Amino acid sequence: MGERLTESPELLRLGIDMDGVVADFNAGWIERYNREFAASLHPDHVVGWDELHRLTGFETMDEFWAWARGRDRSVFRDLPPMPGALEALRELATRHRVVIITARFDWAVSDTLAWLAEHGVIAREVHFQAAKYRVPCDIYLDDSPYQIEALARERPERTVCRRVTPWNHPRAGVVDVHDWAEFQGVVAQVADRALDA
Ligand SMILES: [Mg+2]
Repeated sequence: MGERLTESPELLRLGIDMDGVVADFNAGWIERYNREFAASLHPDHVVGWDELHRLTGFETMDEFWAWARGRDRSVFRDLPPMPGALEALRELATRHRVVIITARFDWAVSDTLAWLAEHGVIAREVHFQAAKYRVPCDIYLDDSPYQIEALARERPERTVCRRVTPWNHPRAGVVDVHDWAEFQGVVAQVADRALDA
């Protein structure tokens, strides 16, 4: 046995969020909701954080999550990938270590792992961790306003990227990215600096 665990060199650790970044959570739950309740919600209706229930017939987020969990197959199992995500991750994994970091519930663990396997994501690490900053990475990509704030505060020496959405905001020191191509550009810049150092 050689010492190498992977076929790829690993220059940087990329801490990648799932929902809103790799998997299109809003498109996925809305598709299921419209089908079950004959509703006509659209993903563009989601503009706030932690207030999804206001778009639905559910009274609280707890009720929303109970529905999203379902009986045997949660919404997380059937989310569509975000545009360009799978291709970009495949490309990034040839030079870097893809570290998935998600704050999803315990009940979503098996569906999350099944989804990553089904889509062939080369995730050499998967962390279920609400305090994402505890997982050390060189670059983070997230869309949660709380995670972006915590990552920028706790990991000021690292590159924190905000996937720009209506439910988060610019923050000093955080790099805005609109799509996967832009994120790949940021990774390339950080990699060049690391190689020059
Ligand atoms: Mg997210």
